[in-house]
Amino acid sequence: MSSITSAATASRRFRLARNACFLLVFLASPTPAAGQSETIAFTGASVIDPGTAGVLSNATVVVRDGVIVSVEEGGEAPAAARAIDLGGRFLVPGLIDAHVHIGTLEAARRALQSGVTTARSMGAGFFADVGLRELFRHGELEGPEILAAGYHVRPRPAEGLFLDEPGLGDLLGRDVRGPEAMGRVARAMLDRGVDFVKVNATERAGLPETDPRKPFFTEDELSALVAEAAEGGVPVAAHAHGDRGGRAAVAAGVRSIEHGTYLRDETLRLMRERGTYLVPTIAVVSDLTVPGGDYDDPVLQVRGRHMLPRVRETAAAAHALGVPIVAATDTGYGSESVLRMSHELIEFTGIGISEIEAIRAATTVAAELLGIADRTGRVAPGFEADLLVLDRNPLDDIGQYQDVLFVMSDGTIALDRLDFRADAIGGRRVPDAD
Ligand SMILES: [Zn+2]
Repeated sequence: MSSITSAATASRRFRLARNACFLLVFLASPTPAAGQSETIAFTGASVIDPGTAGVLSNATVVVRDGVIVSVEEGGEAPAAARAIDLGGRFLVPGLIDAHVHIGTLEAARRALQSGVTTARSMGAGFFADVGLRELFRHGELEGPEILAAGYHVRPRPAEGLFLDEPGLGDLLGRDVRGPEAMGRVARAMLDRGVDFVKVNATERAGLPETDPRKPFFTEDELSALVAEAAEGGVPVAAHAHGDRGGRAAVAAGVRSIEHGTYLRDETLRLMRERGTYLVPTIAVVSDLTVPGGDYDDPVLQVRGRHMLPRVRETAAAAHALGVPIVAATDTGYGSESVLRMSHELIEFTGIGISEIEAIRAATTVAAELLGIADRTGRVAPGFEADLLVLDRNPLDDIGQYQDVLFVMSDGTIALDRLDFRADAIGGRRVPDAD
């Protein structure tokens, strides 16, 4: 076993080293995608940078080669720049959706056009999320930056995992149990280049025959998974609704708990101590309660009505205790999906989280969870030009995120409806916008 382990470790180290080399080359000679080489200057912008407090009025923000180069009060567009006058509209960082199940180009585009410039995949079949990440990373196709997790680790993994990784075939007929099997599954994920390992610490909520309170793994099993993932420099995110499974995952050292519906205060206190993030995905529970959307099942509608007040209470208690909270949709951005990040932000303000904290939960705090806070989530020089334009001040009305007017991702314009309101009524702005 040790020789197999060391061979696997060596091959992983080689892969990581190779990726690191590639990254250095990529950084040293940036080849910007179409649109990125142009200098763009937003003028007349009301800037909200979640890294600071308040609004910077009448600001000029200059973007070049996919990066924000300056943010100045007043200021002027450089002569060679293409100026975009925002006329006082609000320039905010692109949203980070910390829990998605995007598996197609079309879904990725839908997310991007709703203002999501970065998405953490929390499970996708056939490592589609790794593929999407690579396609978008090189700027050949338009999509949000993706952090990938591959398959859920659970006692009965999806069949596709064994088609992708036939070396795990002996686990197909029996449950994935015990530290050794957990380590092997983690290594398979690392070898496919994931950014996070996603484990189901409890059963799912979104199937009529499951009980989301039921724990799946022991703390020892979860610890083995966390340790193996850490060998490859990759953190673990744990899906957990019930307290027992959630607590075992926190004790095992996962970086985030996804959902956390039934977590007790004592588990929340442990999360604060350990610095574990909570991604409560409240809006997706509200989607359970109504027909249509991602879930459409009478049993789940009843269950959702039981879960919704609890997940709201847990998220509010976690926030009050100082647990870092992160916004996410838990949607696949499918053609039937009604969930967007704006729903979760509205849920957050509904449980007493302030507007600026809600925005941070979808930008700076989310970026910390994802390990990318040094490069995205802010409107500040040196950060990626991941930017949105909103018509009015989201600090007064978080619902502004339901009507994103403009999306830029890494300096490339992905959506531009800035002229929409003026054009729609022959040059005059609609009364609502005055
Ligand atoms: Zn999910």
